[in-house]
Amino acid sequence: MALTNSQYETIMREYENRQTRNRHLLEERTAEIYRQVEGYREIAESIAAISVSQGKKLLEGDEHALEDLKASIRSLSSMKEQLLTGQGYPADYLSPVYDCPSCHDTGYIDGAKCHCFKQAVIDLLYEQSGIRELLEKENFYTLSYEYYQGEDLTRFEKAVDEGRKFIKSFDSDYHNLFFYGTVGTGKSFLSGCIARELIETGHSVIYFSAAGLFETMSRNMFDYKNKDDVLSFHEDLETCDLLIIDDLGTEYTKNVAPSMLFSLLNQRHLNKKSTIISTNLSLEDVRNRYSDRVFSRITNQYFICKFTGPDIRMLKKRLQNRK
Ligand SMILES: [Zn+2]
Repeated sequence: MALTNSQYETIMREYENRQTRNRHLLEERTAEIYRQVEGYREIAESIAAISVSQGKKLLEGDEHALEDLKASIRSLSSMKEQLLTGQGYPADYLSPVYDCPSCHDTGYIDGAKCHCFKQAVIDLLYEQSGIRELLEKENFYTLSYEYYQGEDLTRFEKAVDEGRKFIKSFDSDYHNLFFYGTVGTGKSFLSGCIARELIETGHSVIYFSAAGLFETMSRNMFDYKNKDDVLSFHEDLETCDLLIIDDLGTEYTKNVAPSMLFSLLNQRHLNKKSTIISTNLSLEDVRNRYSDRVFSRITNQYFICKFTGPDIRMLKKRLQNRK
């Protein structure tokens, strides 16, 4: 993915901010433990003192110094842990804190970009702060079956099941999902759940409403000035690990959408990159609106889940008003 210098700097500045924030957090925690846990500070300080004196011995040629040092640090460290857990703190409470343990918030692992860097680029390029907020609310922890009954419930359970399988086999198998059904039956919610799980395991996820996607794509068609940006935008769409197209059918660009959709789905299929599409349209409407070739792509290459039931958003609103 192509980045301008200022975009690159923005991302690197964010890494610096993370490091500073986490360093302060650790300092605060250390001060707290020194105040609250009697004897902890003394042990920490004696580890430092022993290290210095063993270092001296090592320089003087004492071959056992290193072994001795390791053994004393081990026993002192376990004493520290016992003190912490004895007071109800987690054993690793004073270990360094990282947003991303893989790269220690540097963005790089052995000179190569970390998975978190890739997602930072995507966030920046697509200003996904909106989706981030959405994903706070829409995830498997907040998933609920209470609004569904009978056949609706069975269908929803099956879709959730498929969603979980999709996540589990994401790295080994190439799959696509197609969610269709009436408004407010949980399609976008489930897409959001899947997106979040995959983002958290370091996959690059791009989320678009169909309206936003086709509008951006058609604007790009005539953007000759920023050709490089447009090219890299299309490359991202075609190569990101997961593309979510939400609310297919709500776009205004009705005449160009079918051919754009076909070439995008086709390219992703060639790249073996997964896509999730959700729509309020019926299958028949999808065929009529996006042509037979799009329809046959979807029926052949997508696992199709039907959603039914009451409009949950309306239901929730009504319940809230009653309170
Ligand atoms: Zn990282």
